[in-house]
Amino acid sequence: MDDILHNLQVINSRIEAACSKSHRERSEVKLLLATKTVTPDRIITAFKAGYTLIGENKVQEIKEKYDALQLIPHVKHFIGHLQTNKIKDVINYGVSCIETVDRIELAEKLHQRLLAENKTMDVMIQVNTSNEQSKFGISPDEAANLTKQVSQFETLKIKGLMTIGLFSSNTEKVRSCYKLLKNIQQQIIALNIPNVEMNELSMGMSGDLETAIEEGSTIVRVGTAVFGKRIYPDSYYWNENK
Ligand SMILES: *Cc1c(COP(=O)(O)O)cnc(C)c1O
Repeated sequence: MDDILHNLQVINSRIEAACSKSHRERSEVKLLLATKTVTPDRIITAFKAGYTLIGENKVQEIKEKYDALQLIPHVKHFIGHLQTNKIKDVINYGVSCIETVDRIELAEKLHQRLLAENKTMDVMIQVNTSNEQSKFGISPDEAANLTKQVSQFETLKIKGLMTIGLFSSNTEKVRSCYKLLKNIQQQIIALNIPNVEMNELSMGMSGDLETAIEEGSTIVRVGTAVFGKRIYPDSYYWNENK
C-alpha cells in the first residue's frame, strides 16, 4: 500500500505546481480518485490518508464495495455512463453527485425517482468536447440548452460541467477540449438560468491534469496515477453495451 501513499503525494505535488503556475489557490482544485476496479482495502488506504472523494463508473461496483467503504466517511460521485434502469441503485448507494447527465430522458427519470423518494441530487452536465463518437456527453452546441431543460427539475442541483476530453499526447489538442468546456461554462453563466450553479469544472485525468488545471478545472479525476494500471481498457467502461 506504500505505493498508493507515495503516488498520492506525487499527484498532490503535481496539482500544487499546476495551481501555482496558473496563479490559482490549491484549495480551488479537488482531487477525485477514480476507483473503478480498485478494491476496498486499497481505497481505504487513500481514505485514511485524507483523500475521501471518489468516483465510480459502474453501479454494480458501487454495490459490491458499499459495505466495506461505509466504515469511513467519504464522498462518492458517479462518473460513468448511467443507464436509466440503474437510477434507483445510484440514488440508494450513497452517490452524492452524478457527473454524467448527458440527456434529458436521464434527467427526467432521475427527477421522477428522486421526487418519489423525497431526495435531491447534485448533478453535472457531461459535454463531449472531443467530438469522438466513442465518448458520451452532449455536444457543445447543445450544452446550454440541456442545462436549461435540466434546471427545471427541482430535485436536480446543477453544479457545473464535466468532460473526458481527448486522449492524446498532443497537449494543445487536449487543451482545446478543456478551453471549450470553460467557454461553455462562461456562456451558461451569462444566461443566468435560475437553479443553476456553474462553479465546478470536472476535467483532467492522470496524464493531463496540469493542462486541465491551467484551463480552470476544479475537479481532477485521477485513477492510474494513484492505483496503477487497470486490467480492462477504458473503452470497457465507456461503452454502453458492456
Ligand atoms: C477512469 C476514469 C478517470 C481516470 O483516468 P486515469 O487515466 O486512470 O487517471 C477519469 N474520468 C473518468 C470518467 C474515468 O472513467
